[in-house]
Amino acid sequence: MKNTRKSLIALAAAGLLMLTACNGDDGAPEGEPVDPAEFPEGSTMQQLHDQGSITIGTKFDQPLFGLQGPDGTPVGFDVSIGQLVADALGVEAEFVEAQTPQRENLIENGSVDIVVATYTINDTRKEVVDFAGPYYIAGQSLMVTMDNDEISGDDDLDGKRVCSADGSTPAQNIAENYPEAELVTYGAYTDCLDPLRSGQVDAVTTDNVILAGYVDESPDDFKIVGDLFTEEPYGIGLAKGDDEFRDFINDVIEESYENGNWEAAWENTAGTVLELPEPPAVDRY
Ligand code: GLU
Repeated sequence: MKNTRKSLIALAAAGLLMLTACNGDDGAPEGEPVDPAEFPEGSTMQQLHDQGSITIGTKFDQPLFGLQGPDGTPVGFDVSIGQLVADALGVEAEFVEAQTPQRENLIENGSVDIVVATYTINDTRKEVVDFAGPYYIAGQSLMVTMDNDEISGDDDLDGKRVCSADGSTPAQNIAENYPEAELVTYGAYTDCLDPLRSGQVDAVTTDNVILAGYVDESPDDFKIVGDLFTEEPYGIGLAKGDDEFRDFINDVIEESYENGNWEAAWENTAGTVLELPEPPAVDRY
């Protein structure tokens, strides 16, 4: 994509093409690069710009938000949001898998520069990482097999086996507030799908948008039941204390609301299945 942009810029410079905004080859929005002269000396933005790439942790097994395609590259709303940050820095985005229980570690040990991975902003996580955003607000929901008529919402979980991902806010919510439910956790939500099919667990719980992706893949097998019972504001995780970088990413998010890139990112990905939401106000805490 970077080379495409370079050649387009070369064409524009030659007077052959007028460039206003351009789209990537895959129809995904392409963010405008920020003038690198604006990056403060020694800032993460300058370092990443000089290095020419940013490493972004995302999900590889969540359709609509982050799903690895046949060529190994992930696609989804989170991936497109991460790409907008890379575009603003004028660098290549390198996506690596960041499963739910690994996200804080990956940021803390410097394996990734940011995490964009259906990552709920909360105070516990803020003790070890910081968050830009939110750029989307999801909510916890339940998925059951098509033939299940016993569970129609979170009031029906007593005595039921409920599957979720280790270290996730939905798993924590079940453990803390649904003492009569039996929580079963794995490293990823996809690990819950076969146990759900075979009846080893009665429900899978996580954010509605993640479950919507699995239902979209297997509409004859699974359904979502009940109302949302939490709020999950999705943030972009980054190293704790890097306020300059957090401000920069918040600027990128806000600009994407203004220039249509956020909406285009949604429409190309999650928007194929889900309604276009209102973009949430960024929280510059
Ligand atoms: N948003 C929730 C969380 O950050 C659930 C989704 C996920 O595990 O990625 O824990």
